[in-house]
Amino acid sequence: MRAIYLDNNATTRTDPEVVAAMLPFFTEQFGNASSTHTFGSEVAGAVREARRHVQNLLGAAHDHEVIFTSGGTESDNAALLSALENQPERNQIVTMAVEHPAVLSLVAYLRQSRGIEVTTVGVNENGELDIEAYRAALGPRTAVASVMWANNETGTIYPVELLAGYAHEAGALFHTDAVQAVGKIPIDLSSSAIDMLSLSGHKLHAPKGIGALYVRKGVKFKPLLRGGRQERGRRAGTENIPAIVGLGKAAEIAAVRIEEEQTKVRALRDRLEQGVLQQIGNCSVVGGNAERLPNTSNIAFDCLDSEAILHKLEQVGIAASSGSACASGSMEPSHVLRAMNVPATALQGAIRFSLSRDNTPEDIGRVLDVMPGIISKLQSMSPLWRDRHETKAATSGDGEYVFARS
Ligand SMILES: *Cc1c(COP(=O)(O)O)cnc(C)c1O
Repeated sequence: MRAIYLDNNATTRTDPEVVAAMLPFFTEQFGNASSTHTFGSEVAGAVREARRHVQNLLGAAHDHEVIFTSGGTESDNAALLSALENQPERNQIVTMAVEHPAVLSLVAYLRQSRGIEVTTVGVNENGELDIEAYRAALGPRTAVASVMWANNETGTIYPVELLAGYAHEAGALFHTDAVQAVGKIPIDLSSSAIDMLSLSGHKLHAPKGIGALYVRKGVKFKPLLRGGRQERGRRAGTENIPAIVGLGKAAEIAAVRIEEEQTKVRALRDRLEQGVLQQIGNCSVVGGNAERLPNTSNIAFDCLDSEAILHKLEQVGIAASSGSACASGSMEPSHVLRAMNVPATALQGAIRFSLSRDNTPEDIGRVLDVMPGIISKLQSMSPLWRDRHETKAATSGDGEYVFARS
């Protein structure tokens, strides 16, 4: 039986077309882009083309607004550190409680080691940013506001254009971690107020270890890595040519297919979600009422343990996640769900299904075939569940609660 992969927000399969585009750059075209001979100039041309594909996917006005990096984490770090270094008179960062650790651990470190003031704005139970609190947090000391375009655990989409405008009113820069948005929803930076944007290759069917940072023309930038003059002096180190070519190819494919795939993936996600909700009681979609990415569904099963659900899914060849890959295994409930005030009984039982263009209707059919059995089995084994629901069912005579389903 083919394994079913529903963890595409953790990483995606590198597209075979992307792999094919990369291969020559390990063999015949192994040159260093900085060399003046033909080996170098051929490779430099391939980097230029890749940069144009990324520029096009972002709708960026100039190709030199795109800096290749090692991935989303580096882009996030480079953006925030540059904003601080360029504005020494401003020592505050405004960010959001449900950001990725690539932003949250960095700002925690900056607070501790450099005395940077960090204001972390909260979200409501739908995962939506408290915009009034965000506006109130911005001020003359704000160097940069950083709010992700879309959340990796819930898919919630944030109004980044609006938020960038508010940041500018306070004279601050605006950065967005768009790692989960790029390639999934249309992005157009041509007349945008966004100053900096992070993206990562492996979330859009390119390889791991490659990404980009968009820095709008006119925004001052201080590099994270110093050395050679690569990337116009903004990111030193010999370019990872095969990966850059791969990211370019992935961006080219995404730009062409984004609308069609959005529709296809959304239909599969909705079928999965509605199927689960209809067949299984006492579960709910986390952040289901907010604007969301088309590929993500985070479903919380009351009184159950997500690790147990994932284990049962694994046994029938289905891979999903209990939130961010970085947090799973630690048994700590997700900081995203906690910030959303998800009730304690649902917090431990949240499963994230994240789809991609590689998923088929058959995949979803199989998940819907096995989920009711898995969940009712675990419910029958959960003392917490029996406590909360069996007594309720017994006293109300409500036929909705059936435990002995095989
Ligand atoms: C995956 C991810 C990152 C980290 O990107 P890497 O390329 O793995 O370093 C950052 N932010 C978000 C929202 C992500 O989903």
